[in-house]
Amino acid sequence: MTVPPRLEVQGLTRRFDGRAVVDDVSFQVEAGQVACLLGPSGCGKSTTLRIVAGVDMQDTGRILVDGQLVCDTQFRIPPEQRAIGLMFQDFALFPHLPVRDNVAFGLAGGWKANRARVAELLERVHMSRHIDSYPHELSGGEQQRVALARALAPRPRVLLMDEPFSGLDERLRDGIRDETLALLKEEGTAVLLVTHEPHEAMRMADQILLMRGGRIVQQGAPYNLYNAPVDRQAAGFFSDIN
Ligand code: ADP
Ligand code: MG
Repeated sequence: MTVPPRLEVQGLTRRFDGRAVVDDVSFQVEAGQVACLLGPSGCGKSTTLRIVAGVDMQDTGRILVDGQLVCDTQFRIPPEQRAIGLMFQDFALFPHLPVRDNVAFGLAGGWKANRARVAELLERVHMSRHIDSYPHELSGGEQQRVALARALAPRPRVLLMDEPFSGLDERLRDGIRDETLALLKEEGTAVLLVTHEPHEAMRMADQILLMRGGRIVQQGAPYNLYNAPVDRQAAGFFSDIN
């Protein structure tokens, strides 16, 4: 018996005012894999992510998680029932809640019923000593770590990350990217990570989905795209990787 992909997107199209900003996009992400949706600003990355999350709707196409239909043009499971986690650029921790309650937010019974899971995650993001701190007492990098713990706490089948590192100080980014990747691999989540930075995709992705004008123009392992870009524009995109 073959195992279905953790996340499968088939023929997704989204039009705004008649213009297809997501245009027949298809891809798969396996459990334990990080797929990076990479492309310049405005190419349709966030729109794709929002449709997978269930906060926007496609005009055509369908999405499956573990082989189960999540949405097509007739049918739609609401966002909170999709077992899909979200992490966006502004970490959006709840300012009035201490770290422990932020991490437990998506868990039935809250912190009291989930002390072990919260403690385990905070340990793994090196934030145990901040369990009672409030978000405003933390640096940007620390808030980012808490946001990651919160996103992973309910063990989502798929984690969606939209430019999650772009609010961070440049000097911190690679360190946090590596820590994040290690934790994602330990958890075995399937990740769809949106970025406009080729360097980030090269560093983190198992699979890059190179997007331009709403379409995926090339997909594959990072070094395949780097070594054999589909055209001059793709070559130029990868050429300034430091
Ligand atoms: P990216 O995340 O790659 O920067 P987006 O998915 O945010 O790109 O946007 C793709 C295109 O769709 C852009 O031209 C944007 O202006 C347009 N767009 C996004 N959301 C809407 C909307 N709600 N209404 C109209 N146009 C939109
Ligand atoms: Mg975007």
